[in-house]
Amino acid sequence: MSKQKNPKNKNNKWVLMVVIAILIVAAIIGILLIRKQIQSEKEITYDQLYQDIVDKKIEKIEMTIGGSTVTAKYKESDEEKTAQVNSLQPFMEFINIQISENPDLEVDLKTPNELMAFFENLLSFLPTILLVVLMIMIFQMQGLGEKGKVYGENEENSTNVKFSDVAGLDEEKNELIEIVDFLKNPKKFQNMGAKIPKGILLYGKPGTGKTLIAKAIAGEANVPFISMSGSEFIEMFAGLGASRVRKLFEKAKKIAPCIVFIDEIDAIGSRRTSNSGSESENNQTLNQLLVEMDGFESNETIIVLAATNRPEMLDKALLRPGRFDRQVTIPAPDLLGREEILKLYTKDKKISKDIDLRELAGDTAGFTGAELSNLLNESAIIATRNNHKVIEKEDIEAAVKKITVGLEKHNRVVSEKDKKLTAYHEAGHAVVSKFLETQDNVKEISIIPRGLAGGYTMYKTNEDKYYVSKTELEEKMIALLGGRAAEKIALNDISTGASNDIEVATGIARDMITVYGMSNSLGPISLKVDEPYELQIFGEGITDEVGTQVKELVDNAYIAAQKILLDHIQILHQVAQALLEKETISEAEFDSFFVE
Ligand code: ADP
Ligand code: ZN
Repeated sequence: MSKQKNPKNKNNKWVLMVVIAILIVAAIIGILLIRKQIQSEKEITYDQLYQDIVDKKIEKIEMTIGGSTVTAKYKESDEEKTAQVNSLQPFMEFINIQISENPDLEVDLKTPNELMAFFENLLSFLPTILLVVLMIMIFQMQGLGEKGKVYGENEENSTNVKFSDVAGLDEEKNELIEIVDFLKNPKKFQNMGAKIPKGILLYGKPGTGKTLIAKAIAGEANVPFISMSGSEFIEMFAGLGASRVRKLFEKAKKIAPCIVFIDEIDAIGSRRTSNSGSESENNQTLNQLLVEMDGFESNETIIVLAATNRPEMLDKALLRPGRFDRQVTIPAPDLLGREEILKLYTKDKKISKDIDLRELAGDTAGFTGAELSNLLNESAIIATRNNHKVIEKEDIEAAVKKITVGLEKHNRVVSEKDKKLTAYHEAGHAVVSKFLETQDNVKEISIIPRGLAGGYTMYKTNEDKYYVSKTELEEKMIALLGGRAAEKIALNDISTGASNDIEVATGIARDMITVYGMSNSLGPISLKVDEPYELQIFGEGITDEVGTQVKELVDNAYIAAQKILLDHIQILHQVAQALLEKETISEAEFDSFFVE
């Protein structure tokens, strides 16, 4: 993923520096104030000093040549007080007379210490200096210091990315190729009276190629590409985000025709809900973006592409005509798309002839383009480490496992008790799945710890599904709870190892009720709401009903899992035993337990 992380770090450094500077200024002002306070307590007027000298209350006076402060030490109290004298000459004359009358009076005339005086002056100027530095820093962050360059923004004059670098996504490319035409030939469309679209939203999971396709549009049209991430607009200082948006578009207008790409637009464009704190800052940024989108004329040919994986979060104002009125969904690649992507990324790699990319595409259902590219890169690394001449099947398999279940942890010491627990847990998943019509076949079971998991059961998934039936969801929950059920039945104990399974199963049950309308009592309504109060239109008690229904689904799945295992308890013991002996068992070995 080609996101620049640097600006963010730099950003944090700036913020830290500003905070430190503010603290230093505050400390110095504090010290100066305290000093002043102490001084003013000891300060007496010139008249008072004059009188006290005449009254012979003072034993010693100190002054500095050229200075204006006189320190007087009192006889009785032993206190030192200071007074300001406007001109030293008349005061000296007065003192001379006093000395002749009062020989006890000691006078200490000091030559000035230049260095001390310099530092005293500097100290009193320091807050001002620091404030100036602070201001300069803030201006620079706003991009006012540097001409043209907007902080955090990336610009490429030509991205050199072409549509041929984007694999799969044929329909999406077809939809977007029009934009290339607009950018190349705006006049042609304008003469016809057509308005060129200003904003296009790309919806899709991270890593599906949204940035890549935006770059490809710029590359095909041969126009500059400016990009920024939504999260970079969100700043600690009010108004900064808005000012960045303004700068970004100023720049775009200068270099138009061009593509402006805003990644993670949900960071600024999420729905305006309240007026407090950082949210109102977001509002300012969002408002500025809306102003800019409305502001430029379509003859300026700036096309703003924005990416998000949370379209439901976006403020509706963003989607109005003249703003992001076109939306293109960039899906995770299907079987064919994955094959295309694999083909693209194996071009520059040495790969064994035995590897069937179609089959690999089948084994990697759900992988995004970024993950597939990463998979092949990992495979190449593993092949190198294994001293293979080309990337072998086993290298790819190791890479798939590394990515999906994490690295093998051979060194982790596992107690016998934990091993047994894991063996029954994984055997539980596998055995239960075997008896569920809709569930995928088991590919491998292992009790070797990987990543965070103590063991794993891998399934063969070679089908892309667009719709999932209710039965399938119910059986999925049963398979997930098979691990916990086996622990309970075989060891009469349950462990924390099942927490993720339980979380996923509960999530499925909740979606079945609130999203897919699969509940008998509630019927086909969507209860997916942003704010709990929105549920109130369904009447009081609706949340209780949802809770009851979700619990019922999960409970039933758990009971079903236990039933399957109790009916086939012998197989459960056999599989767990085999796991304890061999640690990993293959599909064939697993299936051998089921032949009569
Ligand atoms: P997104 O912006 O959707 O998070 P990116 O465009 O940054 O994803 O994709 C990250 C990387 O994944 C790309 O640089 C590219 O290497 C790879 N990639 C993703 N999808 C594809 C695709 N369809 N074809 C080729 N490469 C892809
Ligand atoms: Zn499990």
